[in-house]
Amino acid sequence: MNPVFADLPTTVFERMSALARVHDAVNLGQGFPDDPGPADIRAVGAQALIAGNNQYPPMMGLPELRAAIAVHYGRHQGLALDAEREVMVTSGATEALAGALMALIEPGDEVVLFAPMYDAYLPLVRRAGGVPRIVPLQPPAFRLEEAALAEAFSPRTRVVLLNNPLNPSATLFGADDLARLAAVCRRFDVIAVCDEVWEHVVFDGARHLPLMALPGMRERTVKIGSAGKIFSLTGWKVGFVMADAGLMRVLAKAHQFLTFTTPPNLQAAVAYGLAKDEAYFTGMRAGYARARDRLAEGLSGLGYRVLPAQATWFLNIDITPFGGDDVAFCEALVSRHRVAAIPVSAFYPGGAVRHLARLCFAKADATIDRALERMADAR
Ligand code: PMP
Ligand code: GLN
Repeated sequence: MNPVFADLPTTVFERMSALARVHDAVNLGQGFPDDPGPADIRAVGAQALIAGNNQYPPMMGLPELRAAIAVHYGRHQGLALDAEREVMVTSGATEALAGALMALIEPGDEVVLFAPMYDAYLPLVRRAGGVPRIVPLQPPAFRLEEAALAEAFSPRTRVVLLNNPLNPSATLFGADDLARLAAVCRRFDVIAVCDEVWEHVVFDGARHLPLMALPGMRERTVKIGSAGKIFSLTGWKVGFVMADAGLMRVLAKAHQFLTFTTPPNLQAAVAYGLAKDEAYFTGMRAGYARARDRLAEGLSGLGYRVLPAQATWFLNIDITPFGGDDVAFCEALVSRHRVAAIPVSAFYPGGAVRHLARLCFAKADATIDRALERMADAR
């Protein structure tokens, strides 16, 4: 058995959701919305399932979806993508990440990662034979500092893996951070895998800037997106990869033997959804921003220190006043007070940070209020 996976625990999201079920808890742990997702997109998917062709779609994705992805990123992010040579559909961002790392890394290549990091990253890098170089980002700002980048990058660096906006800290990296990262990528001829699944879930008037748009990055960036986050349909697992044709040729080889393809009805529905007008995106952001503020204000009112959330569906609370670590806090919260949260140490290999808990606010007002009532007792 491969030791990377043999010694891994079950992912924290699955464990906390299982505990939430056992304790009949309000689940603010794993990130998924209460809302069933846009009714029109679901209807298109259902119609395509009933009336459509349910056989294997093309390996790179339905042509209509690839065209919709290219148009979508042109309209929202100013990217010029060739739908036939630079766009691929995957079964979620997770497949895209696994495939990209599998395709790009040779055993012994160094891979720069930033902590906190999504829990899938490190095992996937290790399994691909990469040698991780982890850059800890300093809270509360979580900036990509020039000195830390200079220390981590070297002629041995092959890939850097960035998540922007960043789950779990809810940070949006802007032009300055990305420019510093792009400079070291150019200097050391590094490929950037940029997980941008949260690109549309940004608040307070901020705009997401794709790393791929920076000077010298077009040919060296693999951009990853997910319909799960754009349309609040996390179970659908429809992801996208955008990359220069030369890189895409190799990424496609990993995809063809990982999943080969993704359900055609879901692809058709996502193609329809990507064409939605600005009102959808503005409304979606406004709805989540309201939910963020409701949870943040409620928690502050209960005496919790709430960290700022610029993006994603998550906010973090500082549990220092409660003593103990984040795992103990979250276990007590779910079992005694019936609210599930995620201990943020799960995003820090080696558990360097143990005083934060992540809560998902992508919920109906009533769900948020029920969690707040229960957390009032936890203090
Ligand atoms: N990357 C990040 C940073 C995520 O937060 C998530 C899921 N929340 C994923 C990847 C996985 O996306 P998907 O469900 O499309 O595989
Ligand atoms: N990405 C989701 C989160 O951060 C979880 C996805 C999963 O459960 N694999 O909550």
